[in-house]
Amino acid sequence: MDNTNYSFSEAFAREMDEKDPLKSFRSRFYFPKVGGREAIYFCGNSLGLQPKTTKEYIQKELDNWAEMAVDGHFHGEDAWYHVRKKSKPALAEIVGAHEHEVVAMNNLSSNLHFLMVSFYQPSKDRFKIITEAGAFPSDMYMLETQVKFHFLDPKDAIIELEPREGEYTLRTEDILKVISDHKDQLALVMMSGLQYYTGQVFDMEAITAAGHAAGAKVGFDLAHAAGNIPLHLHEWGVDFATWCSYKYMNSGPGNISGIFVHERHAESPDLPRFAGWWGHDEGERFKMEKGFKPMFGADGWQLANSNVLALAAHQASLDIFQEAGMGQLRAKSELLTGYLEFLIGQINRDRAVIEIITPKNKNERGCQLSLLVKKGGKAVFDELYQNAIVGDWRHPNVIRIAPTPLYNSYLDVFRFAKILEQSLHKLA
Ligand SMILES: *Cc1c(COP(=O)(O)O)cnc(C)c1O
Repeated sequence: MDNTNYSFSEAFAREMDEKDPLKSFRSRFYFPKVGGREAIYFCGNSLGLQPKTTKEYIQKELDNWAEMAVDGHFHGEDAWYHVRKKSKPALAEIVGAHEHEVVAMNNLSSNLHFLMVSFYQPSKDRFKIITEAGAFPSDMYMLETQVKFHFLDPKDAIIELEPREGEYTLRTEDILKVISDHKDQLALVMMSGLQYYTGQVFDMEAITAAGHAAGAKVGFDLAHAAGNIPLHLHEWGVDFATWCSYKYMNSGPGNISGIFVHERHAESPDLPRFAGWWGHDEGERFKMEKGFKPMFGADGWQLANSNVLALAAHQASLDIFQEAGMGQLRAKSELLTGYLEFLIGQINRDRAVIEIITPKNKNERGCQLSLLVKKGGKAVFDELYQNAIVGDWRHPNVIRIAPTPLYNSYLDVFRFAKILEQSLHKLA
């Protein structure tokens, strides 16, 4: 199926849904209501929907706590002491890693700081960080304050990659050139894998190779990538990465993050880190002795004992991902977002009002399209919301629409397009 076969008709959308091998997954999620109507939900890039099984998973741990209290730490197959192990197979598959390279812990912003403690070690000569301009605010603050923590000036130490004049997204060749231009002073390349505002996917493999060739470490914030696009962190040789689980990974508001640390750093007791007892050698943890001995792999970056209720909600979602499979999810995602792109193209033939700033190339995007609305964008967005469409508004003029392959349908996309068309007419 390629884009040329798409059709702007409800019958076509229904036929695509009928043929969709993942169609049954939609009914496993709760959809919110807006103004009394079930929403057409395209905001999984901000907060994924709740799986109907989440309650049971949490309830089971509440029962364990009620029945066993402290004995729950070591009792039976689901002993909390080992709870971190459960999510590893799914996480490893989602980010393309070995199980010992991933672990669920903390929140994204905390993790990125802890990982930079290990992987941003500026020296007098090598202290620069390359990142994308317009990064997510938390990432900007993290880089700024990490640099200041080392008594450096962000103006000297942080290099922001800017799109070319008149363009919205970055060209890989330009990114690679900036990396190589700074090769004598570069300590770290730290950027998002999928840019939250434009929806652009960066060529993480090429960036990692270029960063390493320049003598730097390379890390990615995968908040918008994890559970959305195929990732091969191990194969790409990425040093470290972190993500959150509440966007595409449907694990609940503010829920637990995950980290990746490449196996080449699995046994690096000399890497600086801010340690806690949960990263200490498991066999000796309760000896309560001095002298930190990190666990092998990503586990050695854990600080605190695991949040069991958070992990239960996380697991409810991961089990669904395992069942659906990233391969099938991606195949549908390309078609579904392709359909959204096609319909917007039909409505907006002369691109007079809407410009899609997300790359056209499927390999350079995930499920989200960012629509730059040239005039009256906020009014269009409000009109969509009045019609129970949940997308999101990014100042000053972008509407982000993210149809997810797990719970969105072709009919959702079709209905959205009809309402968008009406809204543009009404507001013209
Ligand atoms: C969503 C998002 C965050 C959020 O960080 P939290 O620590 O989970 O609050 C950070 N960075 C990026 C790029 C994001 O998209």
